[in-house]
Amino acid sequence: MKSRTKVVVIGGGIAGCSTLYHLTQEGWTDVVLVERNELTSGTTWHSAAQVTNFGMNQTMVGLKTHSINLYQELACDPDYPINYHHGDGGIRLANTEAQMQGYRHFASMARGMDVHFEVIDAAECAQRHPLISTSNLIGGLWDPLDGDIDPAQLCQALARRARKAGAEVYRNTPVTALSQHKDDTWTVHTEHGDIDCDIVVNACGYRVNEVGAMMNVHHPVSSMEHQYFLTEEISEIKEAGHRMPLLRCPISDYYCRQEKNGLLIGFYEQNCKTWGMDGIDPNFVNALCPDDLDRVTDVLEGAFERMPALMKTGIHTVVNGPITYTIDGAPLVGPIPGKRNAFCIIGLRAGIGEGGGHGWLLAQQIVHGEACYDTWCIDPRRFTGHTNVELTALKAIEDYQNEFRFHFPHEHRPAARPAKTTPLTPILAAEGAEFTVVNGWERMEYVKPAPDFHPSLSFHFDETFDVVASEVANVQNNVGLCEVNGFNRFEITGADTHDFLDRMFCGHVTRKPGKVGLGYLLNDMGMIKGEATIANIPASYRGDDRVWYGSAAAAEFHDMDWLHQHMRDDEDVHIKSLTNDQTILVMAGPKAREVLTACSRGDWSAAAFPWLSVRECFIGFSPATVMSVSFSGELAYEIHVPNASLYAVYLALREAGAAHGMKLFGSRAVESMRMEKGFLHWKADLLTEFDPFETGLSRFVKMDKPNFVGKSALEERLKAGSHKKLVSLKIDCTHAPAYAGASLMEDKEVIGSISSGDWGHRVGLNLAYAFVNPDKSEIGTVMALDHLGDMVRAEVIATGPYDPSYERIRA
Ligand SMILES: Cc1cc2nc3c(=O)[nH]c(=O)nc-3n(C[C@H](O)[C@H](O)[C@H](O)COP(=O)(O)OP(=O)(O)OC[C@H]3O[C@@H](n4cnc5c(N)ncnc54)[C@H](O)[C@@H]3O)c2cc1C
Repeated sequence: MKSRTKVVVIGGGIAGCSTLYHLTQEGWTDVVLVERNELTSGTTWHSAAQVTNFGMNQTMVGLKTHSINLYQELACDPDYPINYHHGDGGIRLANTEAQMQGYRHFASMARGMDVHFEVIDAAECAQRHPLISTSNLIGGLWDPLDGDIDPAQLCQALARRARKAGAEVYRNTPVTALSQHKDDTWTVHTEHGDIDCDIVVNACGYRVNEVGAMMNVHHPVSSMEHQYFLTEEISEIKEAGHRMPLLRCPISDYYCRQEKNGLLIGFYEQNCKTWGMDGIDPNFVNALCPDDLDRVTDVLEGAFERMPALMKTGIHTVVNGPITYTIDGAPLVGPIPGKRNAFCIIGLRAGIGEGGGHGWLLAQQIVHGEACYDTWCIDPRRFTGHTNVELTALKAIEDYQNEFRFHFPHEHRPAARPAKTTPLTPILAAEGAEFTVVNGWERMEYVKPAPDFHPSLSFHFDETFDVVASEVANVQNNVGLCEVNGFNRFEITGADTHDFLDRMFCGHVTRKPGKVGLGYLLNDMGMIKGEATIANIPASYRGDDRVWYGSAAAAEFHDMDWLHQHMRDDEDVHIKSLTNDQTILVMAGPKAREVLTACSRGDWSAAAFPWLSVRECFIGFSPATVMSVSFSGELAYEIHVPNASLYAVYLALREAGAAHGMKLFGSRAVESMRMEKGFLHWKADLLTEFDPFETGLSRFVKMDKPNFVGKSALEERLKAGSHKKLVSLKIDCTHAPAYAGASLMEDKEVIGSISSGDWGHRVGLNLAYAFVNPDKSEIGTVMALDHLGDMVRAEVIATGPYDPSYERIRA
């Protein structure tokens, strides 16, 4: 066994084997994998091992495509061929029009990744899968490349290739402890000796938290028991002359694939069961949980009705094993928050199909710092600190129960809520607020017109359309008040603060006391890493000079890690998170200044407190920090309040606002208004796949600065020219917004993808942002949006059609 290597991957299931192989592919061959037992002895060995291409966003589709291509290549390797039924096809069933709408959108989205799903009717479903009945069926989504693979052979093939490239694999070598050194390197302690290394990777499947504990980390991953059974031979299958496609059923929560001449059917029962919550027997190796088919009777019936041939077929084997879930169903693949040189690839609930792709994206992150796709949807830092064992388990149960039911737009599932609240949450609830969840925070979406208001789940504009319109109208004409909780807020202090920030941001960072600026952080490849406001708060009785760094609600761990990684040892810079201590009340509208003047001492005139200013003050008798910034396009103030004073400030503002028609508005109104102003959202429109010039942010880049993170890479990109350009679009459709990922077409060619969209109530337009081929980015260019199955006209318009001269914000 080596005593020193570059990377130690812990765990020899699909996650670990794929990571090891892909590290060698990215050029790092001095790498090892340690496995406590034999390879695949965790969950991998007993997997149903279906490999599908379906994903809810382009990153997931892209990584699954990588798996499929890789597995096909492995299957065809004459030196070590493996069993892979590639291209049996698969159908996701639907019995509601709303599900079909979703499938049409996902087909449009996948087309941008060169993946061609087909939305088919019920008769066509039955044509392609001769065992199914069409009762209670409208149609489905056809995924032509679905199949299944031998999971043990797959892992052996990956490990074999990795070994050939120079990697080493140590079996029967349990990791017992991890120590990190001052220089951030690690020692991995095993039963057979220690290995020093630069980087560790946790790929431990359901034992994720045993290894997490060795580095003092709790990962939000829970295990559920999951069952499938194998049937005896079914004559219809034998006679069909072709293999049965896979089935996924959101109506009755099961999946099904062919196994020999019978079927393998797996269930996601409502009466489901967590596993290993209080620790896992160390001897649970190559093991299964006891069969419990009684638990799945609710879903069994649906499967039998859909495939009547099952009624006369015996079951010969039942498999019940642990499967891991995170709190949003997507795995955790990337850097471990708060740790240096530590990565994970955990929480895989469809790890055989996805594992090839996840290992690929992880290896890229380890070797190059970033992957070819934006990986936020699988980033371990997307949850910040509220995800204990209980919350994770509650979300895991909910996800398991809804395995094949995709989230509709604006659907808020109820498990583990409320997790993060402010003193205002119950007050807003009493005012009729509907809440959405932003990184665990209960954030007001809109005020319900009636207590029993329940909009339909749909991809079309729903019953909230008029509600949001009236909140926007009140912001436009009077004044509105909105709570923005969980907004990420760092306080940065120290003599070198501005020099440090100057290096981190690609543009000008204001140093003027009392001023606020917006800026962008790039990664080492010159791509968009983050977006933040910088507010320079002058010294006062509340503290010395300090900078408040504000960014998206989920960005706390991500941004904290990024800033810390770039801080030099000799720099006097200190970062403290205020995210959980402060809440923002946004007051927006032409009468906002009158309200502020009525409840806060001082001169709030445009001359004394112009746009992009920050000032400490009192609202009523409570401390607050006010910034004149606007995401809505109206005159607006962000009022930052310590949570202890939040209710008092709220009461003071409501009282002062009563005479000016103040009403509440929520995040849906904000979303509509920011589209009209040309403002972008981090991780919707601001992605690591594009540089700031491609994203239309050239005014925020100062190439003549001596240096900033990503500068040299950006210079190279500038020479090479843009690959895509962000544009604003006007969509000729009044019944549904454009959704992220949907394809923009010209002559059957995909020329771009939507990043976000919404109706602009003040301009009366259906608006969207999209990344398109640069030659299609001129204003007036017309293209077709593949929109829920229809081709709809989309035209490039000037970004920010509402009040383009910014007169209202500056008023
Ligand atoms: C019944 C069932 C059916 C499934 N069907 C499908 C399907 O059809 N398609 C699909 O894509 N997915 C399916 N899955 C899920 C899929 O099997 C898993 O996502 C995948 O196998 C997880 O792989 P892994 O490498 O993350 O974990 P594991 O396979 O559990 O591997 C983790 C490894 O880490 C090792 N380890 C743990 N602790 C230590 C330590 N201290 N030191 C060293 N090594 C350690 C373990 O021994 C183990 O080998 C199914 C799961 C179940 C339970």
